[in-house]
Amino acid sequence: MSETVFEAVIGLEVHIQLSNQTKMFAPESFTFGSDANHHVSEVSMAHPGALPRTNKRAIRLASKLGLALNCQINSPAFFDRKNYFYPDLPKGYQISQDSHPICGPGHVSFPMPDGSIKKIRIHHMHLEEDAGKSIHDVTDYHSMVDLNRAGAGLIEMVTQPDLKSPEEAAAFLMEIRRIVRYLNISEGNMQEGNLRCDANVSVKPLGQEKLGTRVEIKNINSFNFLSKAIQYEIDRQIQHIKDGGSITQETRTYDPVKNRTSSMRDKESADDYRYFPEPDLQPVEVSEEEQMVLKKEIVKLPSEKYQEYRGLNFAHNESMALIEEYAFSAYFDEISQLSKESKEAANWMLGSVKAWLNENGTDMNSFPIPSQHMALFIQMVKSAKVPRHLAKEQLFPAMLKEPQKSPAELATSLNLATESNEGELEKVVTSIFEAHPNEAERFRNGQKKLQGFFVGQIMKAMKGKADPKAVNKILAKMASKK
Ligand code: ADP
Ligand code: MG
Repeated sequence: MSETVFEAVIGLEVHIQLSNQTKMFAPESFTFGSDANHHVSEVSMAHPGALPRTNKRAIRLASKLGLALNCQINSPAFFDRKNYFYPDLPKGYQISQDSHPICGPGHVSFPMPDGSIKKIRIHHMHLEEDAGKSIHDVTDYHSMVDLNRAGAGLIEMVTQPDLKSPEEAAAFLMEIRRIVRYLNISEGNMQEGNLRCDANVSVKPLGQEKLGTRVEIKNINSFNFLSKAIQYEIDRQIQHIKDGGSITQETRTYDPVKNRTSSMRDKESADDYRYFPEPDLQPVEVSEEEQMVLKKEIVKLPSEKYQEYRGLNFAHNESMALIEEYAFSAYFDEISQLSKESKEAANWMLGSVKAWLNENGTDMNSFPIPSQHMALFIQMVKSAKVPRHLAKEQLFPAMLKEPQKSPAELATSLNLATESNEGELEKVVTSIFEAHPNEAERFRNGQKKLQGFFVGQIMKAMKGKADPKAVNKILAKMASKK
């Protein structure tokens, strides 16, 4: 009997914490990493009579993300109460959206590691407030509650079960992170918890239409763990079925230390939450005009840029490195346009510029060199007006120190410019021929391979600062001169 081959089906629920300065329905500020319970108000502490108000910016950000991901914007959309009890949820319900979320179906395309483009469907996106945090490891006897995060705005993105492997899930989530950063919607940082993801995983015999029973995995806080948790769960389910068991719908948690998932609780159904319309909040309206304004603010998305760069013959890895941060790729686009030397520009971006950013632990917004100067610099290197090694070791560092000066000015004052004046170069070539009469003789008699020897000698004499094109031209002239 041949063994059944299984395939995996994965759908993700992604929580995106908005980059808002204030909370979703409460007036207080919200920042990561402050002392416990320093960002609270009557609303987030659920004092009787305290009323929520919707943060307008949150509506705009969610709509913008929806428009970027080809979603229909539902106007009006409504808020609902999702009821459950937990100590970090003082109201006893979470304000969320159930039947009329702000964004309807859409889709996202993203690059896979093999360079192919994968497209998956978004089921919907809705707005909700975050809960507080329960802290269990401060004392032996008590759990603590920190309400700083309670009421912070979240977008929940729910995908269709279109993903087929841990690699696809990770590549998808990375694209979402890039998109929310490109659009300034969220910091998108998994470690800090402002990008979170639950993975729904099921398996079924290869080719079968009907989906298997799914398990939802919570507590995934890195891309690496997302892949590992999904892979573990796929293997576990297949093994369980092969052993004659059946999968029960449940919520499991991932333990990164043991690299395994374990059961947390049976899956709640929507009925358990007793959703009902939130009576304290107005419906959400986003007019056609507002949508037009938001659409105009949407920059070119990373997957589009990826395809553009691949079209320019950049390798997958180079293209991925170029699209990682919006400001980085925007700067790259500027200097390649200005210099008309996109290969050379990419090399500098991924070499010296990236190294500087890493060393300074910063991003492109703090990079001091104006794009015009960087473009001129790239042209100077490409046309050998400055020798490559001196450009890297001296001119680039000088530009970082004095970014307001043009690279040509700096090259002159540092005496880095290559000699391209043929008269000057001819003098040097002649003196080198005189110093090596035997080689010069053989070279004139047609021994072409001595060209390299002479170029080397000339470069040495000029400390690298000779225009190689001009040198080769002069040598060619000398070779034909008997
Ligand atoms: P709920 O409302 O109970 O959370 P949903 O139907 O909204 O359930 O689905 C939640 C997530 O689970 C979605 O991302 C969806 O794509 C995914 N999903 C649904 N069915 C399956 C399945 N059989 N296998 C894997 N993922 C699934
Ligand atoms: Mg759900």
